Amino acid sequence: MHIKVAFVGNPNCGKTTLFNAYTGAKHKVGNWAGVTVEKKEGIIKHDGNTITLVDLPGIYSLSPYSMEEILTREYIMNYDPDVVVNIVDTSNLERNLFLTLQLIELGKPVVVVLNMIDIMENKGYEINVERLSRELGVPVIPVSATKQRGLTKLLHQLIKTSKMKSEYVPMSVNYGTVIEHKIDQLIDAISETHSLNENVKRWLAIKLLEKDSEIMKRIKLPNWESKNYSEEIGKIKYDYIACFIEEVLQIDHDEETFSDKADKVITNNFLGIPIFLLMMMMVFAFTFSVGNYFAGIFESIHYGLSWLIRDFLIAFNVTDWVIALIVDGIIGGVGGILIFLPNIACLFIAISILEDSGYMARVALLMDKFMCKIGLNGKAFIPMILGFGCSVPAIMTARTLENENDRLITTMITPFMSCSAKMPIYVLFSRIFFPGYEIVVAFSLYLLGVFVAIVVALIFKTTLKKGKTALIMELPQYKMPSVKTITIFVWEKVKHYIVRAGTVIFLASVVLWFILEFNTTGHVDMTESFGASIGKAIAPIFAPLGFGTWEAALSLIAGVMGKEIVVSSMAVIFGVTESGFAFALKAVGFNMISAYAFMAFCLLYTPCVATIGIIKKETNSWKWTIFSFVYQLTVAWFVAFLIYQIGRRFF
Ligand code: GDP
Ligand code: MG
Repeated sequence: MHIKVAFVGNPNCGKTTLFNAYTGAKHKVGNWAGVTVEKKEGIIKHDGNTITLVDLPGIYSLSPYSMEEILTREYIMNYDPDVVVNIVDTSNLERNLFLTLQLIELGKPVVVVLNMIDIMENKGYEINVERLSRELGVPVIPVSATKQRGLTKLLHQLIKTSKMKSEYVPMSVNYGTVIEHKIDQLIDAISETHSLNENVKRWLAIKLLEKDSEIMKRIKLPNWESKNYSEEIGKIKYDYIACFIEEVLQIDHDEETFSDKADKVITNNFLGIPIFLLMMMMVFAFTFSVGNYFAGIFESIHYGLSWLIRDFLIAFNVTDWVIALIVDGIIGGVGGILIFLPNIACLFIAISILEDSGYMARVALLMDKFMCKIGLNGKAFIPMILGFGCSVPAIMTARTLENENDRLITTMITPFMSCSAKMPIYVLFSRIFFPGYEIVVAFSLYLLGVFVAIVVALIFKTTLKKGKTALIMELPQYKMPSVKTITIFVWEKVKHYIVRAGTVIFLASVVLWFILEFNTTGHVDMTESFGASIGKAIAPIFAPLGFGTWEAALSLIAGVMGKEIVVSSMAVIFGVTESGFAFALKAVGFNMISAYAFMAFCLLYTPCVATIGIIKKETNSWKWTIFSFVYQLTVAWFVAFLIYQIGRRFF
């Protein structure tokens, strides 16, 4: 038998963890809202059944407040899963059950999964599973996704429920005589024009009473008039839950948990932001201290290896140009990027610890307050933080924003974040020009990115129509970060980095090497090459910024392919030498000020190809895509200009 199962639940209830536990997939688990934005599918086999699991984005309700909610609803209605698995964060049971009631109302067979049962046990709470199941009229299975408990039992239930699918009658909440009467009338009216399943009709009727815009577009009942009952209907649902919740699970709200106590300090209006800055400082300290230590080892290996291979190739009488291609082009470029792998890994280890402990969720909440004050949507901060990893998935999460303007603004500002590809640039330049102050310099660039993003957002905000702002977010309990989650997360990032080095960086290095060795007349000195000519043509634009050399210009052009290519290009241009970059960069005229201006420029200029691609996809507009390209370039130019021109008067 083939069973289609959809995972639905509030953000952060553990859907992805459960999905990964079943499928062995390694999707990103994040201890905060809004991490999964695209649905993901996985297939498992059990007892001769094939089960397709679909992990959907987290939602708080099925009302059309955000694109996620509409999409999830559409998904359930159109693709018709055999079983809807409603995953519930048991430590937030009451709040989660609101969505449960709405799901049950949809009329598809529901199985409720009480996740994080391990946390409840640790706290000594008991849950009356039978009672809950009776009240909801659906099976309830307690599990722990992280501890992998209850998983088989859940599978059995899924198979059982899907077999009895045709007999399924959903429990329905009684909305009182007035509303129930209207529901009945509506069901009759719908029946006249639409032939639909009974369960669905009741759901549509309720949605019409709630004046649900999506449904009103679809079901047109010209003669029907009524007031908006959404508040009453919502309240009755809450009351319904309140009736039995105490008997199912008693949570002692008086007792202060560790999380509550910690939050008093961490989300405090005055202390919150300084603590966050301090945390980020620690992230960089870790990235640079431990990261640089290992990067140094990698660097020696890189240098040694390139000599070894050169000697080896010479010994075999390989032609000079092939040796140069392999050693200077490929090993130079690809290796020049791989030596920063330890820094990247450290950065992601640190970030994932902050995330999985539950801290980042606090930061998002904290920033929400701040963002609201300046008139921005607090949710925009989540893509911004994800942007520290990579703009591509970050821009995809902008979908969770309800308002189209907010989505657009977020898409436009996310590329200003210091993504991990920019890290090698910071490491390289700050180590050479700011020895001893690398952490401060890198941190200042991260802040510069956030600052520019906020300023730009404010400018957009005044030119675009205003929208409402609100962040509803449950704060997860603080917890020990799980080694497994962190390993998966960091490994995915490291793998991605290595794959990029072997593909995009490899190609870019080879191409770059060729255009640096040749021009139309054949093999020439590098300064006469085709590549140098391109660089020279562009370089004057950068002269007022302090780095008007063809080497810098060429690597910036190449960097549009991916920001780390700025570094790999320089490695190809300057070659792998023991004195390394320091000498070469100083020789082409870089100093402290121009190096900083250069880093700032790299941070802000034109998004990389992948990001441009996702901007096009998400905005579905060439106009906005081209705009983002041009305006980021302009912003970057001005910021670097200011830094260089002001800086050189002081230093
Ligand atoms: P999603 O947003 O619903 O996909 O939630 P995730 O799968 O990303 O999980 C959110 C957080 O809850 C992560 O930090 C998980 O490690 C944690 N988590 C998920 N399931 C469990 C569980 O059964 N027990 C505990 N203790 N933590 C869990
Ligand atoms: Mg998820």
